[in-house]
Amino acid sequence: MEALVSPSPEPFQFSLPTPGAEPVTNWRPPLYPVPWAISPYDHFFFARPFAADQTNWPIADYRYGGVFFGRDIVHTGVDIPSPEGTPIMAAGPGTVVWVDWGLFRETPGDQTDPYGLAVAIRHDFGYNDQQLYTIYAHMSMANVLVGQHVETGEIIGFVGSTGATTGPHVHFEVRFPRNSFFFTYNPELWIVPPQGWGVLAGRVMDSKNRLLNSVEVTVRSEQTDRSFITRTYGDGGAVNPDPYYQENLVLGDLPAGIYKVTLRFEDKIRQTWVEIFPGQISYFTFAGDDGFSTDRPSAPTLEFLPQALPSTATPQP
Ligand SMILES: [Zn+2]
Repeated sequence: MEALVSPSPEPFQFSLPTPGAEPVTNWRPPLYPVPWAISPYDHFFFARPFAADQTNWPIADYRYGGVFFGRDIVHTGVDIPSPEGTPIMAAGPGTVVWVDWGLFRETPGDQTDPYGLAVAIRHDFGYNDQQLYTIYAHMSMANVLVGQHVETGEIIGFVGSTGATTGPHVHFEVRFPRNSFFFTYNPELWIVPPQGWGVLAGRVMDSKNRLLNSVEVTVRSEQTDRSFITRTYGDGGAVNPDPYYQENLVLGDLPAGIYKVTLRFEDKIRQTWVEIFPGQISYFTFAGDDGFSTDRPSAPTLEFLPQALPSTATPQP
């Protein structure tokens, strides 16, 4: 007798995303184990919401703090594009506290909500004794219930394009100490880098130490000549700097090595070099005519409670 092997449906097969403008390979080194925190100031507590053989890094041109094509809206998370139906995974262990439409206005069932169908997880660990949350928005379908405990990597739902989106992706946020739109932080300082790779954080100011918004910054590898272009956070909106770094620019997922950092200030090109170390955050400041520095902040400030912002802000998840 020949056993009948029925083909199993493969609704979640691994498929490559639609090629974008940037030619990137999908291969990256495996991630460090989480939590990964080799300095007292860093906090790579989270894995990523997609499997390691998927695109699991933020799109480059609309990072946290980015402004979407001239619309006066500042991005409160990162977007990771993936085909419709791709499994979305919990970035860390915790309890599901939201599964519904309406997350932005905290109005369950609101079908006009820009986040679409979203899941929020309150994590088992905190940060400086405060509750930590991660948010996964625009799902096609959720796979968990409120009150359910999930482990890192557990499937919590599937990629969709519900809410305000231009295509299937996950909008991923890190929030503390409250699960609210106004309490987000840059996820690239929280998701663990690939092994051997690191993260650059910067604080770009004018000569009077005022933060400069939406300044284009080019970061070029001295080893490979590959360039990355990013921008400082946009004006206003609901973005918050890290309590320690007080940054207004983050570029994650950089292979370790020496990089040239270039920006334009008062019509002059300014540049410096930074070294990216494996599994760590490198840091620089720019202060107008005082130029660049790579001195790190002296000590963590305790005044890190985010400020409530005007309620007129609208989200662009
Ligand atoms: Zn988004």
